[in-house]
Amino acid sequence: MTVTEPTTVPDTVTALDAARADLRARLLRDGVLVDIGSPGLYGRTGVFERVYGAVDAAAVRSQADLDAEVLRFPPVEPLAAFERTDYIASFPDLAAAVSGFAGDNRDHRALLAARERGERWESFLEPADLMLTPAVCHPLYGLLSGDLPVGGRTFDVLGDSFRREPSLDPMRLQAFHMHEFVHVGTAASARAHRDGRIASIRDTLESFGLEIDVVPANDPFFGRVGQVLARSQVEQSLKYEFVTPVYGPDHPATAIGSANLHEDHFGSAFAIRSADGEVAHSACVAFGLERVTIALFAAHGTDPDRWPAGVRAALAL
Ligand code: ATP
Ligand code: ZN
Ligand code: MG
Repeated sequence: MTVTEPTTVPDTVTALDAARADLRARLLRDGVLVDIGSPGLYGRTGVFERVYGAVDAAAVRSQADLDAEVLRFPPVEPLAAFERTDYIASFPDLAAAVSGFAGDNRDHRALLAARERGERWESFLEPADLMLTPAVCHPLYGLLSGDLPVGGRTFDVLGDSFRREPSLDPMRLQAFHMHEFVHVGTAASARAHRDGRIASIRDTLESFGLEIDVVPANDPFFGRVGQVLARSQVEQSLKYEFVTPVYGPDHPATAIGSANLHEDHFGSAFAIRSADGEVAHSACVAFGLERVTIALFAAHGTDPDRWPAGVRAALAL
């Protein structure tokens, strides 16, 4: 007879941690996600992919009127491009670099000897001048240096995002995907893009049977300087988040999408000018694809065939 150990929740674990652990356990037990041995990294099964694909397709349908130019990038970006985004100044704790082995036979022998002794061998690797992309619109701006056409340009960018924030909250992954709709143009057209998309994104997420609030965002900029940046982000209402109460009304709601005005941050870093000759402004709206998908499993259960008919219709499931 197999005896299942009772899951004991230590006193120090808060109710929120317990709710997160509970959702994570349910997703693993019901075969939605697969634990691959590192917090915030999962294998994904057929049922996950079915819903994830439906979420992405519905997100794209909801923004079809933008007639956006499609661009896809690899999950890593050149260090030089990463550098110009200034990400390392704001979020050094989330950034991650690729390294590789560039030594000779002697170095390789030393690596193997260290490995043989059970020591870590990554110190034998060297920076490869590649960074894991933390936000999928970042590789775009370097392509736009110079003059934009009248009306600016609007892009559909889907890609991998990596952030070093290991967590047992299934809503906080280290590797995930965002589908972004990005506009680069004038101060007015960038703001109009950010504001103009909010209703359709909200409607789309609500059509999935999710309870949605749109709230001003407060990013965790790093360190003391970061506190100033965070305050100005809120004061200037630069970013909004689409949040849903995955863990119930007693816990903070989780962002499953965002609408972000960068002002001239990327325009000035990447020397982009709008048709009026000014430094370009940009804005992006993002669907956090895994978060929307997992929010659906949390809200409606792990069997999509039993979801409400209206939800399945909205997702064309
Ligand atoms: P949070 O405040 O929860 O850390 P964020 O403000 O850092 O989110 P954004 O930078 O706005 O997130 O990224 C766009 C979207 O990507 C978010 O709205 C969310 O849906 C998704 N996202 C961000 N971080 C993660 C993560 N660690 N795991 C899964 N999805 C994420
Ligand atoms: Zn973006
Ligand atoms: Mg974050």
